[in-house]
Order: sequence, then structure tokens, then C-alpha cells
Amino acid sequence: MRAYKFRLYPSKKQEEMLKHHLWIKKELWNTLLEKTKEKYEKEQKFLTISEMAELVKGTELYSQVAQSVFRDLDKSLKAKMRAKSKGQKWGFPRFKPFDRMKSIHYPQSGFSLARKLSVSPFGEIAIVQHREVKGKVKTLTIKREASGKWHTIFTVEEEPKTPKVNNGAAVGLDLGLNRLATLSDGKVIQNPHHFSRLEQKLAEVQRRLSRKHKRSHNWLKARTRVALVHEIIANARKDYLHKAANVLLSNYSKIAMEDLRIGEMIQKGHGKGIHDASWRMFTNMLCYKAASAGSEIVFVDPKDTSKECSCCHALIQKGLWERTHHCPSCGLVMDRDINAAINILTRATAGMAESNACGDEARLSSLKQEAAPFRVR
Ligand SMILES: [Zn+2]
Repeated sequence: MRAYKFRLYPSKKQEEMLKHHLWIKKELWNTLLEKTKEKYEKEQKFLTISEMAELVKGTELYSQVAQSVFRDLDKSLKAKMRAKSKGQKWGFPRFKPFDRMKSIHYPQSGFSLARKLSVSPFGEIAIVQHREVKGKVKTLTIKREASGKWHTIFTVEEEPKTPKVNNGAAVGLDLGLNRLATLSDGKVIQNPHHFSRLEQKLAEVQRRLSRKHKRSHNWLKARTRVALVHEIIANARKDYLHKAANVLLSNYSKIAMEDLRIGEMIQKGHGKGIHDASWRMFTNMLCYKAASAGSEIVFVDPKDTSKECSCCHALIQKGLWERTHHCPSCGLVMDRDINAAINILTRATAGMAESNACGDEARLSSLKQEAAPFRVR
């Protein structure tokens, strides 16, 4: 399954209708939730699917959209029950204000896609398809962004592709704060610099928002501006990560990385959420793109990758501020992150000749290794 996201340009009338449907959907969610709570208080039981189906009958919503409301609620209640049966804390799902009801989901039918998008009961909605949709469209979601834009997301069943043959080398990759990634061969992928300009812009619009009277007309306008800048930043970041992942996958057949699920990475990232989120997104992209690129992603234990000497394997303590690995046992002097990336590669290819180069020659060449930028774009 693959997802495609396109911008929608509903007419004024369609936009009013879409908002109206989101409103109904919100009302339905809240009503179903209220009735379920009432029943639970009396009988310690939730509404059944058929009871909920009865309650959503006769609304203006397309029938499958209405069904999706109680299916979502049912799924959420079941998850709460599982938590309860495990003795975990649980509570009912929340009532939703209109702001939180953002999308309409069509799980099977009610829409068709040609040059325009046709969705029941809204009719034909103008769409910008910046990419060709390949494969069979399965589901459709229409989404209202916080910035006021409308998007549509299709999930598409892809035809299985014959994987490409990739003759690239194996490489170790160390995710970082200053650079996005450092590779075991000395190449680096920088963090995109143009972000600082966007972040200044964000700070500016946030400052303006804070000066407005809450809930006033100008406050609402300023809030939309903030959402828009957030959206621009998120898109720019995603776009950059896509490009960086493509560059890597077209150059290497095997990419070794640290397993992010292991706790040590959190320390390494100083708990900085944005880096953490970027790393996760980047890792996911590499994983799902790898198969069609003919590459393989291997995860290794991140324990001590930055302390271990990639030449003699001695553990050298160093602070986060120390940018150079300097090994008193074997004399290796090397960029800290390149050393870590080599360790990561070694762990993924343990026992293979390419990963264990440790001799005078290797030491000399590694001394010369200065981080060289990898061009993304
Ligand atoms: Zn050493």
C-alpha cells in the first residue's frame, strides 16, 4: 500500500458543504460517545456495532463515512478495554470540538478519480495531481489542514515491482544533531540550512499571535498564519529527507544504522523532539524505499558506538562536545561521527573483510578523512 497526497481546491459552496459534513461527523462522534457512556454507567457495557449503526442512520453523510465514525469509536473503545484488562489506566475517548474533526474517510466507495476527483455527495472537486497515481485506488480521505487548506489522501495498492539490482557498497550511517547523517566513508549529509530562515519566520508569526486578543478575529487570522508556517516547515523537512534518502539508496546497497528503539539514542539526542522526529521519519523512509531501490537496511545495537575505537575496539570515554575521536591505545585520530559510523558498519557486517581494516594504512587514510558533504538535490 502506498499513499498519495494531493491539494484540493473546493469551490466556496463545496467548502461550506465539506465543513458542514465535518460538523455532522463531530456531532455523531459526540452523540455516540455520550450514549455509550450512559450505557456503560447502567450496564457496564458499550454500545454494540449494530446499536451504533442504528444511531447514525439518516444523516446527510455518505453511508460509509457515517459508518467510519462508529468503526473508529469501536476500535478506540476496544483498545481501552485491552488496556483495562491488562490492569492499565484507561478512560473513555474524548468528546471532540469542531477543530479536532479534520477528515472524512471513504473506506471503499463513493468516489472516483479521473482528471477531477468526484466525491459523493460533493460532486467534482478540483484537484492538483502533481504525480501520477500508479495502481488501484483503495481508500480516500479528505482532510482540512489547520492552515485552512484542503488535501486528499489516497491509499493505493501497488503492483509488485521487480527489485532493482544495486551494486553500491555497504555503508554505516550515524544520525546526528549538527549533521543529519555521517557515513562510514567520510561523506556527510548536512541538516538543511534554509530552515533557520523559516524558523525565524515562525518565531515572528508566533510573536504576533501572542499580542492579539484571544479568540478575536485578528487572533484567528494570526493563528492560521502560524499553522501555515508550521506546514511549510514540515513539508520542507519531509521533502529534504525524501531527497536525502534517495541519494543514499542510489549509492549504497546496504546501509547500517543504529536501532532507534533502543534507549541510548534518547540520551544522544538530548531529548530534542524535532531531531528525534526527523530521525524516525528518515529511518522509515529509508526502510520503505529500500526494497524498490534494491538496497538493504540493517539495524545494529547502538551501545557505545561513539565510544568504541573503530580500529582497536578500546572504549574511549568522551563528552558530547568532543568532536574528535583520539585513541590513546592505537593512535587513531578521526572525526567522532565517522568513527561511530564505521563501528555501525562493522556491527552490521561482522566477520566480513571490508569492515575490519585495521592497520597502518587504514590509520593513515583515516587521519586524512575529513567530513565531505554529500550533495542532496
Ligand atoms: Zn584504538
